[in-house]
Amino acid sequence: MTQIKKLIQTINEFRDERDWKQYHNPKDLAISMSIEAAELLEDFQWISSKEAVEKHNENIKEEIADVMIYALMLCDELDLDVEEIIRSKVKKNGEKYPAPAQSNQQ
Ligand SMILES: [Mg+2]
Repeated sequence: MTQIKKLIQTINEFRDERDWKQYHNPKDLAISMSIEAAELLEDFQWISSKEAVEKHNENIKEEIADVMIYALMLCDELDLDVEEIIRSKVKKNGEKYPAPAQSNQQ
């Protein structure tokens, strides 16, 4: 089992112990992901990146975790393979934004 699948299993166990699956439809998981991303932004609001990382380091970690937990739950709910969709998107981005050709003259 991949590390990502083990993480999803841990998240699902936490959810099932509380009988929360009934609330976790794709729409509400997507909304929750966005809310958690907004909470992450709050840590950066009105201050520089440097200040934010210094002042809110702990909370930044927690909000990133919240976003990723909901993203993993959404993938699981939609039966998506996390690794496959990320690799596929990186490949697509590579085609859209090709890296500049490397010069052989040095
Ligand atoms: Mg949060």
